[in-house]
Amino acid sequence: MKKLLITGGAGFIGSHVVRLFVTKYPDYQIFNLDKLTYAGNLENLRDIENQPNYTFVKGDIVDASFIDALFAEHQFDGVIHLAAESHVDRSISEPMAFVMTNVVGTCNLLNAAKNTWKASGYEGKRFYHVSTDEVYGELHNPEDFFTETTPYDPRSPYSASKASSDHFVRAYGNTYKLPVVITNCSNNYGPNHFPEKLLPLMIHNILNNKPLPVYGKGENVRDWLFVVDHARAIDTVFHEGVLGETYNIGGFNEWKNIDIVKLVCKTMDSKLGRPEGTSEQLITYVTDRAGHDLRYAIDATKIMNELGWKPSLQFEEGLEKTVDWFLNNQEWLDNVTSGNYQKYYDSMYTNR
Ligand code: NAD
Repeated sequence: MKKLLITGGAGFIGSHVVRLFVTKYPDYQIFNLDKLTYAGNLENLRDIENQPNYTFVKGDIVDASFIDALFAEHQFDGVIHLAAESHVDRSISEPMAFVMTNVVGTCNLLNAAKNTWKASGYEGKRFYHVSTDEVYGELHNPEDFFTETTPYDPRSPYSASKASSDHFVRAYGNTYKLPVVITNCSNNYGPNHFPEKLLPLMIHNILNNKPLPVYGKGENVRDWLFVVDHARAIDTVFHEGVLGETYNIGGFNEWKNIDIVKLVCKTMDSKLGRPEGTSEQLITYVTDRAGHDLRYAIDATKIMNELGWKPSLQFEEGLEKTVDWFLNNQEWLDNVTSGNYQKYYDSMYTNR
């Protein structure tokens, strides 16, 4: 039996990872550690919460003594670390929360893993850190892609905090020989995505006939990957990735923000039986995000060639699945968009 700690498992990507591991590996004992911030939602895991191999633990990775005690009690065999403050806009208004969770929280987990595992010589142990392509900075030349050797150049407080955590993970691997592996993934989309992020925000606003805020001219380019494919990649790297290595994960699926918003509009019009062009009328250009990176594009050749992973869905198919999920789960959307979310949303966008 393997005991695995998955952090941030109540969040968007974490909940898909927890579901995959709980259902695919009934002989593993999965512990989901999550603080349940505004972004954590146990509703995401209702379908598996009663499985005998699943345990939820509420707690904060910033609390070092709590983390030490948790490791001492459970002697985990592996860690998949996803807990983070994850929203770039919030990192601009409250950077210290990102330093605490993403940097200090990651170091607390590294220390606990090191101290718990060193007596066994780290035999059979693995610390897997889930990170982002944003650590690499931005691209201007359309032929360029981020590879695993691209130098780090983080440009927002979010990406700086994730870059810092990546450096600490590698440093623990190098200095203490902690068995670590890191992945850097592009933008995810799919079910359970919190509606402060682009795609669910657009879907939610179209449903509520609200303006669709697009930063600047909508020229920024991102690579998009269906969240279930990211969870599959995490499963692959956790089991087959070479210790000490980094793998980039992406969809080879680049979109300008404005084009992706128009595609969401078209898909929503078709699903809601409205004339094409109805939702596009809601598009409103707003003052650009400070320091908004122009383009991110991931070269995922290494994980594809060395570990045999590849995305399972074409983007149009993934987007349709995503829209269907939000249309069939409007109660989930209503619950997460009430209260504090509304206050946050109202403070965010100013018309250009
Ligand atoms: P999310 O914001 O949806 O979820 C984060 C989870 O972490 C939440 O459940 C939250 O409650 C929990 N959490 C936050 N602070 C915590 C703390 N101090 N202690 C314990 N739990 C805490 O984020 P996500 O989009 O699912 O991203 C998960 C991970 O994947 C992050 O590390 C992020 O950097 C990385 N990532 C995300 C994307 C993306 O497109 N969303 C892409 C690449 C990498």
